[in-house]
Amino acid sequence: MPIVKDFFIGLSNSTILNETAKEIGPLLGAKKVVAGNTIESLIETTERLNNKGITVTVDCLGEFVLTTGEAIKAKDQILEVMYAMYNHNLDGHMSIKLSQLGSEFDLELAYQNLREILLKANEFNNMHINIDTEKYDSLFDITQVLDRLKGEFKNVGTVIQAYLYKADALIEKYPELRLRMVKGAYKEAENIAYQTKEEIDENYIRLIEKRLLTAKNVTSIATHDDKIITQIKQFIKDNNIEKDRYEFQMLYGFRSELAEEIKNEGYNFCIYVPFGDDWFSYFMRRLAERPQNLNLMFKELTKPQSLKRIGIVASGVTTVGVASTYLVKALRK
Ligand SMILES: Cc1cc2nc3c(=O)[nH]c(=O)nc-3n(C[C@H](O)[C@H](O)[C@H](O)COP(=O)(O)OP(=O)(O)OC[C@H]3O[C@@H](n4cnc5c(N)ncnc54)[C@H](O)[C@@H]3O)c2cc1C
Repeated sequence: MPIVKDFFIGLSNSTILNETAKEIGPLLGAKKVVAGNTIESLIETTERLNNKGITVTVDCLGEFVLTTGEAIKAKDQILEVMYAMYNHNLDGHMSIKLSQLGSEFDLELAYQNLREILLKANEFNNMHINIDTEKYDSLFDITQVLDRLKGEFKNVGTVIQAYLYKADALIEKYPELRLRMVKGAYKEAENIAYQTKEEIDENYIRLIEKRLLTAKNVTSIATHDDKIITQIKQFIKDNNIEKDRYEFQMLYGFRSELAEEIKNEGYNFCIYVPFGDDWFSYFMRRLAERPQNLNLMFKELTKPQSLKRIGIVASGVTTVGVASTYLVKALRK
């Protein structure tokens, strides 16, 4: 459903909607997929997951960082969260976007911010620091920064987006790093990335298998796709891949029952927990991936207390949300 995907990706890129959403706070169902906007709420969520034997990777939500001050503030918030996790003896690590640290206007600043985070992480039980992947435009920056840091730090890794033709080469380049394998969440051009679900799924499975056989570090298999998870579990069994060489990952609030089921089967499991005010882009990307996630939004919109708080964000998104639902139905016919 490329039109629906384009539409939500377009909304996720709107600075005005993002700024307004930040002021209003999580709504439209985002609360179900974002662990609140205070460190206390994040700690509570993490404790709950840790008690079930599930580890976390925390994303301090933040995009559209355009000034040095904003980049430093984002870095400081990440350090604050790391300290709180360490202090509460929680089992988890951090997922960070380079753009949060200033890479879109000053790559050196982003590098220095990330290095400071990694130095601190060494004091906090060598906490792992993952660099999330964003739009293809930023991939070169990520690999440049990673290449500078990977000699100095063992606890840094990144994400491989299976829709990219380049994904194969990246797996070959970084066997020693901890890598998360995903399908890819952004809209990329045909000369850069596979476009159809079939092609992306096929490449995703092939790349995970290749990585599991060649990796010298942990592989995080990050998907909600139960068919792919079943297939990979079989591959793991057939090839006797050791338990500490991989884990499954899902996003907070999605397929929680399946996550617990996999954990209870004895697999290592990690939940990606986003938190903070900057929820709008993240939420729109989730709608772009799976328009059925609109259910989350509609459930919240029917509550009377929500209606009072709904301003520009809700009215804009609702109108297009309804339109998209009709569109989804129409395209299915
Ligand atoms: C932990 C984690 C970290 C990520 N980090 C990044 C990153 O750094 N960069 C990036 O580009 N992308 C990232 N992503 C997003 C990723 O690229 C995909 O866009 C996203 O995971 C959707 O793809 P999917 O593999 O879950 O399966 P999809 O292709 O969305 O779904 C496949 C099938 O799974 C089932 N399914 C999926 N979701 C649900 C649901 N909610 N309820 C019921 N059934 C469902 C359905 O049968 C569906 O047809 C991350 C994803 C995860 C889980």
